[in-house]
Amino acid sequence: MIHNFNYRRATSVEETLGLLEKCKEDYKIICGGQSLLILMRQGLVAPENLIDIKSVKEMSYIDYDPKNGLKIGAATIHREIEKSPLIKKYYPVLVEMEKNLASVQTRNWGTIGGNLAHGDPAGDPGPILIASNATVKMASLERERILPLEDFFIDIFETALEEGELLTEIQLPILPKKTAVAYEKFSIIKNQQGIVSVAVSITIDEDAVKCKDARIVLGAAAAIPLRAKEAEQMLIGKKIDTKLLASVGKKASEESDPVSDIHATETYRRFLVKTLTTKVAKKAWELAKAAN
Ligand SMILES: Cc1cc2nc3c(=O)[nH]c(=O)nc-3n(C[C@H](O)[C@H](O)[C@H](O)COP(=O)(O)OP(=O)(O)OC[C@H]3O[C@@H](n4cnc5c(N)ncnc54)[C@H](O)[C@@H]3O)c2cc1C
Repeated sequence: MIHNFNYRRATSVEETLGLLEKCKEDYKIICGGQSLLILMRQGLVAPENLIDIKSVKEMSYIDYDPKNGLKIGAATIHREIEKSPLIKKYYPVLVEMEKNLASVQTRNWGTIGGNLAHGDPAGDPGPILIASNATVKMASLERERILPLEDFFIDIFETALEEGELLTEIQLPILPKKTAVAYEKFSIIKNQQGIVSVAVSITIDEDAVKCKDARIVLGAAAAIPLRAKEAEQMLIGKKIDTKLLASVGKKASEESDPVSDIHATETYRRFLVKTLTTKVAKKAWELAKAAN
């Protein structure tokens, strides 16, 4: 049973920030409730004040411009991202990811901001967004700040959001020329969170011979979505072939720091990191060769 709490509904960012200040001793923000309500029902979280931002329309948008890239309001639901022609055109991997995130019902309620703010290392959007060099915008009554998403995740279910702060926007830069991002999760039940997931971004040189830049981000393989930086370095400046990809997968597995739980052992997760990294990096390489 859910405990008693004060319910407060905001309709603007300004009103939300005022409520966060007023309730600062004990509050939780709720948007789609797809993650928070589970914790509240289990009694793991019991805030005195629940601040509902679902009606803050100014936080629900998808904007793209060819200079600055993509901006997604934090209260945008997964389903809108999945259905966006703009995102499909410029960041297709996000659309594919959304199609495999939970059920349509959950995607119709759950938001991109709620997903990131929940701080679950098994969340699907985090690895792709970090591989795409995303930043996040946060606002409080005192200030607005922008942080690389990579630095937003602090520990399991812990983010850089401070008391009184609201996550307002997710920003993706224009991908460099000859760049592609690929993603895959391994899950036992379709459209459930991955046992392990991997996102890889690869930029190749003009002649499509060597890898110019690479980002490898592991999901559910550490307390946070984790960049496998040594594995990335193995790709940069090199001509990619099957042997190199296998070594990169092995290195990513060594860099991962997974736990054993009811879903999988640490050993199995490391094995998955190795095979998925090899596979996803190959896919990103092939897509980059075909990219503009
Ligand atoms: C059946 C089921 C299956 C799922 N499968 C997947 C899956 O396959 N992959 C996946 O990634 N996720 C999955 N999820 C998780 C869920 O879809 C996401 O985490 C969802 O996007 C959360 O968004 P929300 O708006 O519902 O967040 P809420 O539940 O409302 O909030 C989540 C957390 O974020 C905070 N918060 C919300 N918005 C903000 C904000 N703007 N600023 C600051 N803090 C904020 C809240 O205080 C809370 O701590 C699943 C969930 C369910 C119920």
